[in-house]
Amino acid sequence: MANTVRTRFAPSPTGFMHLGNLRSALYTYLYARKHGGKFILRIEDTDVKRYVEGAVDVIYNTLNAIGMHWDEGPDIGGEFGPYVQSERKDMYLPYAKQLVEAGKAYYCFCTEEELNERRSAAEAEGKHWKYDKHCMNLPKEEIERRIAAGEPYVIRQNVPLSGEAGFDDVLYGHIAVDCADLDDMILIKADGMPTYNFANVIDDHTMGITHVMRGNEYLASTPKYNLLYEAFGWEKPTYIHMTPIMRDAQHKLSKRDGDAYFEDYLNKGYLKEAIVNYVALLGWNPGDEREFFTLKELEEAFDVTGMSKSPAIFDPAKLTWMNAEYVRRLTPEQFTEYAKPYYEQAGIGHMNTEILAKILQPRTEIFTQIPEVVGFLRELPEYDAELFTNKKSKTNPEVAAHVLDLAIPALEELICWDETNVHDTLLGIAEKEGLKNGTMLWPVRIAMAGQQVTPGGAIEIALLLGKDEALARLKAGRAKLG
Ligand code: GLU
Repeated sequence: MANTVRTRFAPSPTGFMHLGNLRSALYTYLYARKHGGKFILRIEDTDVKRYVEGAVDVIYNTLNAIGMHWDEGPDIGGEFGPYVQSERKDMYLPYAKQLVEAGKAYYCFCTEEELNERRSAAEAEGKHWKYDKHCMNLPKEEIERRIAAGEPYVIRQNVPLSGEAGFDDVLYGHIAVDCADLDDMILIKADGMPTYNFANVIDDHTMGITHVMRGNEYLASTPKYNLLYEAFGWEKPTYIHMTPIMRDAQHKLSKRDGDAYFEDYLNKGYLKEAIVNYVALLGWNPGDEREFFTLKELEEAFDVTGMSKSPAIFDPAKLTWMNAEYVRRLTPEQFTEYAKPYYEQAGIGHMNTEILAKILQPRTEIFTQIPEVVGFLRELPEYDAELFTNKKSKTNPEVAAHVLDLAIPALEELICWDETNVHDTLLGIAEKEGLKNGTMLWPVRIAMAGQQVTPGGAIEIALLLGKDEALARLKAGRAKLG
């Protein structure tokens, strides 16, 4: 196993998948695949204050929907399980005790009040407060006595008073902090449970994680984590911290703005493949001009050298552009599958989906645009007779009245309302009357749509509306023309 790359995605189950988390998962997954390694899913629920119903399912469902399958995880198990921190809760205390034995950690009995008092006193003197190692040198007997007496305690990391705590990050290089600036963080809480930080380190080691890839908000904690690795004498993983995804130069994508979660974009009518493709390119580039990648292609192309150190700015317009490309590449049947809920929403669920796909697919950037674009199909908008005027088609209200007078009775006679019949009827009249096709079709389309710009032409709209509605609209149009 020594050389096998093992990466992990270690989300805290919050109920949502932030795009930053999604990208962490993606890069972590890609790194493992690229190197023939293992991708592990671990649920970090140590610090989750409240149980969030269905939160773990959101993680499973998102990863599965994208096709990022894990090799070990809570649901499928593996050699290093369990893979949910709350199910590992008894594993941590022995490690903390091992550190205590080695003098790298110690029991601390300070109460909240005592700590507050000393903190206030330090702050009153303008000093920065960190835990003052008050309990570090308690005699062994005293410790045993107090524990036996049931006094609450925590276990703290014993950070050296001086020297450097540092590590090498693949992207950020050498990161070092002065030990004097580090607090003796709590490893085991008064309830016997590990802190998030401690559990994270123990899990990464005991699961044999070789590459830790995560958001750069952990850059500052990693030196402390490394002190723990050193204290145990464990081999450190390779660290790759990733830049945040920003809304603009100053702000991260945040849930408040409704633009931070994968789910937000699905709800906004984006395709998951497009979101994943776009997110992959936020902070990584293939080193050439390629922009479109399936997950399989990313598995081949991904490389740490293409990862960026500067924060990525999320550009919704670029995502929309990319989504439009993905929409265009769907088969009409796939398009219809995605579009159906929006047809229902728009009240056109009963209309011919083949024709709808034909006219909507080329112009749909995101699926949520559909209801607005097809609003005229459900209900004829109010419109002015001036709409019948169009220079290029050589029509005006007078010409339109003439055209409709010819079209209405001819269409009324049709028994079979299909493309051939509607087409041949309208263009047959044009030919017979010596009219340009445009002159014939413009008034018909305007009367049926009540707006100038429509997806599809007169014939498609006539077929979508059906004979009765089409004729009713044509007659109403004719009535406007006096
Ligand atoms: N559980 C952490 C989070 O959801 C991930 C920490 C890590 O990857 O080390 O942000």
